[in-house]
Amino acid sequence: MDPFNLWPAILAEIELKVSRPTFTAFFLKTKLDSLQDNRAVISVANPLVKDIVESRYYSLIKGLLEKHSQKKINLQFKIGAVLKEEGPPGPLFVRAPAPFSSQNQIEFSHLNPLYSFDNFAVSSSNQMAYAAARAITHSPGRAYNPLFLYGGVGVGKTHLMQAIGIQLLKKDASVKVIFCTGEEFTNEIINAIRSKTTHKFKDKFRTASVFLIDDVQFIAGKNAVQEEFFYTFSAIYRRGGQIVLTSDKPPSAISKLEERLRSRFEGGLLIDIQPPDFELRSAILLIKAKLRGIDLPMNIAQELAVQVSDARRLEGALIRFLTEAEVLKEPISLSLAHRLFGKKLAPGTNTPSLSSSSFINAVSKYFNIRVSLLKGERRLKQIVFPRQVLMFLLRSELLLSLNEIGALLGGRDHSTVLHGIEKVTSLVSKNESVQKDIFAIKSLVGEK
Ligand code: ADP
Ligand code: MG
Repeated sequence: MDPFNLWPAILAEIELKVSRPTFTAFFLKTKLDSLQDNRAVISVANPLVKDIVESRYYSLIKGLLEKHSQKKINLQFKIGAVLKEEGPPGPLFVRAPAPFSSQNQIEFSHLNPLYSFDNFAVSSSNQMAYAAARAITHSPGRAYNPLFLYGGVGVGKTHLMQAIGIQLLKKDASVKVIFCTGEEFTNEIINAIRSKTTHKFKDKFRTASVFLIDDVQFIAGKNAVQEEFFYTFSAIYRRGGQIVLTSDKPPSAISKLEERLRSRFEGGLLIDIQPPDFELRSAILLIKAKLRGIDLPMNIAQELAVQVSDARRLEGALIRFLTEAEVLKEPISLSLAHRLFGKKLAPGTNTPSLSSSSFINAVSKYFNIRVSLLKGERRLKQIVFPRQVLMFLLRSELLLSLNEIGALLGGRDHSTVLHGIEKVTSLVSKNESVQKDIFAIKSLVGEK
């Protein structure tokens, strides 16, 4: 390629890869100063831009130069001559490039920074969805495209979808992430049509590298919107962008969804997220309390998780509980939880056919450890963990009190039991092999 055209061609490619503010701040005033033999020198506006471009975009630029010039390139940067601005330098000209960090970009993309993977608890009901979301952050556009998450209200679809965007921006603040709801998309396209600015709309959406669209079912039945969505989807997909969608139902159950959209949605990976089980609800409560700076004791989290089975009401219940404690100037306690959320369920009422001995036997069988050892005094690692798993299951599945569990396990006191349960609860939320253990034991319990 003619060296004269080389840099504009490269800039055009960079423009597609980075967000608009990034491009304006860091690339607009760059030029290819010289290209002799294998040595390319890029001149940039000032030392700050040089630092950033050199540290973040070195390999991107080098790769593009090599691609276009068909040879190995040794890349260098220099500060260019001061660019002559038209007119006197007003405040706009001396301003440093737009503030630019992952944090800024997360806000700029309308993502809630609290909806991160770190704040997302994993259990059997959302494990698949979580694994797929993680895989996407490792190879966006390639792992699963599109990813379609569906499930009822409050199961964590929006959270998980945003976690993908947040994680990708943490890795590289220049990735263009667009997050919007089906409703926002609808409003934007309607406004664009009305104000004859559809080209702007297209520029904005079709150049996304990561397109996160929440509650996509909203666009069903709206013809102009579905049409524009189809072209947006196709443009992003063709360019290798990652698309993630959420909905309250699978594509096949969304009525008035255009056939070509349905088949696009079904062309990727479809995963449903089930309502959170008891363990997950407890873990979510612990996380939500922690985000408010409160270390919720495990027994209280479990109490709330027992009383509030609707995922939507979980955080509300926690807030109500914490506010009440503050208003009454009472410490947070189990008895306050009982008073607020009704009577404690009698042990075993939710699973009347199961007894503590079925769990004890299942744990013994699964880990291949005699019941007498589980109940005994020995504190070998191979015995302690199964014993703690047993405590956890007796609490979460049979709702036995800490004292009842202690009594069943050879007269241990309630703080030992609590410690064991907390240990396993925290493992369950992050360790896949522990999740598998629990799952396997639960399925053993039902067997004769
Ligand atoms: P959905 O979009 O499926 O209706 P959201 O993602 O809005 O659900 O989740 C509702 C609330 O529950 C949010 O505050 C979210 O952070 C929380 N939540 C749901 N699932 C989890 C989870 N697995 N870990 C942590 N918080 C969760
Ligand atoms: Mg949602």
